[in-house]
Parts: sequence; C-alpha cells; structure tokens
Amino acid sequence: MTDAAPMFKRLALIGVGLIGSSIAHAARRQGLVGEIVATARSAATRKRVVELGLADRVVETNAEAVRGADLVIVCIPVGACGPVAAEIGTALAPGAIVSDVGSVKGSIVKDMAPHLPSTVHFVPAHPVAGTEHSGPDSGFAELFINRWCIITPPPGTDPKAVERLAAFWGALGAKVETMSPEHHDLVLAVTSHLPHLIAYTIVGTADELGDVTESEVLQFSAGGFRDFTRIAASDPTMWRDVFLANKDAVLEMLGAFQEDLAKLTRAIRRGDGDALFDHFSRTRAIRRGIVSIGQDSAAPDFGRPHPSLPEAPVPRPYAGGDE
Ligand code: NAP
Repeated sequence: MTDAAPMFKRLALIGVGLIGSSIAHAARRQGLVGEIVATARSAATRKRVVELGLADRVVETNAEAVRGADLVIVCIPVGACGPVAAEIGTALAPGAIVSDVGSVKGSIVKDMAPHLPSTVHFVPAHPVAGTEHSGPDSGFAELFINRWCIITPPPGTDPKAVERLAAFWGALGAKVETMSPEHHDLVLAVTSHLPHLIAYTIVGTADELGDVTESEVLQFSAGGFRDFTRIAASDPTMWRDVFLANKDAVLEMLGAFQEDLAKLTRAIRRGDGDALFDHFSRTRAIRRGIVSIGQDSAAPDFGRPHPSLPEAPVPRPYAGGDE
C-alpha cells in the first residue's frame, strides 16, 4: 500500500475469476483504488469472493455493482460482454471509465459500445497475461508484472481516459501498448489464438493414436508435449468465445499456417533436409529475437505459474471434447 491518493475512488469488478481477482489483489496491494465493489454471475463465486476478502462489498447484480464507480472493469468471457453492457448501461455514473479484459477486441467494441451512454468513457483493454487456472482462488497480485496490457480505444475516445487507464495498468505492473481493436485481433490471432488451437488439436491427436499408450504419452510428455497439455488445459468457455469472436483473423492465420505446414510436410516426404534445416534455422532466429527483447520467461509464454497453486496436472489425453 502506498501513501499516494488512490487513482480511482471506486473500482467495480464484474466477474471475479483469474483476471478479476488478480486485478483486485494487485490494485489493493498498490493502493490504487479507494474501494472495490464486486459481483459475479453465480452465488457460489460471490460467496467465495467474500470469503477471500477480495472486495469491500460484494453485490448481487451487475447494475448494483457499477453504481457510483469511477472505474468499471468487466472480467468475464468475451461472448457475455454485450448482454452485461446492456444491463449496466443506465446505471453507470457520468464520467466513469468502462473497460474490459477480453482476449478479443473487435467483437467487444461491437457488442458493448452500443449499450454504453455517451457520458462514460469506453476504453477496452487486454492484459496479455494468464495461467491455465480459473476462478476467484486462482488470482495473484503479480500476474501482470512485466506483461503487456494492450489498450484498444475506439476512434474518438477521450485521450485523458486512455491515459488514466494506461496509468492504472502501469501501476498494476504491466507494460502498456495502444493499438486499434482490429490490429490487436490480428496480432493476437497469430501470437496466442493459433498456438492455443494447435495445442488443443495436438493433445486430442495424441489421444487418438492407437499404438502409443496413454501411459507412454504421460511418461514421455517432457519432450514438447507437456507444454501443449498446459495450454490445452485452458478454460474451455473462454477459448470457445475467443475463436467464435475472432473468427476472421484466426481463419486468415490458420490458412497461412496450413500452407507452411504443407511445405514442411512436402520437405519431409521428399527427404529435403536442406528445406527443413533452413526453416528451423529461421525459426531459431525468431526465438532468439524474442529472448533478446525480453519477452521470454521461465513459464510458457501464455502464462506464468501461480506462486502457491500447483501446476495443473497434465490432463489425461483427451477422452473426448469435455474435460
Ligand atoms: P474465469 O477465471 O473463468 O472467470 C470468469 C468470470 O466470469 C467468473 O466470475 C464467472 O462467474 C463470470 N462469468 C462467466 N460467464 C458469465 C456470463 N455468461 N455472464 C456473466 N458473468 C460470467 O475467467 P478469466 O480467465 O478471468 O477470463 C475473463 C476474461 O479475461 C475473458 O474475457 C478472457 O478472454 C480474458 N483473459 C483471460 C486470460 C487468461 O489467461 N485466463 C488472459 C487475458 C485475458 P461465475 O464464477 O459465477 O460463473
């Protein structure tokens, strides 16, 4: 806690899962807000938020949560943001900053903006930080430290509101970048969404191999497969919504990926070692470039381990679509 005046008098959090609870922990620790009012969809989560002491007040409805708040952050799956914006629109205080943390931005702007009054500042954001854990118990104050938070203000957004939100995320520990929602979705399609799709695919593929046993997959999973299983353990609701909401950019990147995969397939089939070597040398240089700009960490790039939660167990190779 610092002695400086809080940046916002009242923070309203709608949704208190991994991201919402991490914001609560970090904002409290840094003394960034005078008060936190929270709500969640289910009574069970609201009860848990009270037990964990994540908020000063926990209320039952989204409209109740945002009343009188000068910062509102919606921390729920992308597909649920439009209906929630419709619920809170008339309860928002004039001058409030309304933001979100969704992993896709174009659809958030399209779904939320029409429901928000012109008296508030809508400043969407995406903290590029996560783990494979979900729910109010999974958050921790350090989640955003040295991670990017991408702010995607729609055209015409008050620059002062953007600055205030950027300062908030900076104080949570994040490095802040601003870009258009469309550009964000294209960048994240290749850096995050496509890798998740590949992980979801490959873990399923391993399950379908008749002549490699389940125990062999688990036993030898350190050979690359293990990181895929961590990614493939990510929340099914969140990722379903990401692929539905960022369909166009993901399909574009998937097309490019399939062309590259076809080239490598052909090189393997033809025994073209030079083509394979050239490709792997190029990707090695890309990896070294990532390390040299400080984007590497001991954790897989999509997240970092929770300091006290155990790493999620390596899941059984898929027994079907559901966990
Ligand atoms: P989470 O841990 O699963 O928590 C989701 C929260 O949203 C819970 O409080 C849940 O309430 C609530 N919720 C779920 N469905 C809802 C609905 N239909 N209407 C209202 N509330 C609903 O999820 P999270 O990881 O914090 O992700 C939240 C957002 O952050 C997503 O938009 C995601 O794209 C984005 N994000 C996630 C990550 C990541 O790695 N996890 C990283 C960056 C951004 P109940 O518990 O009561 O069901």
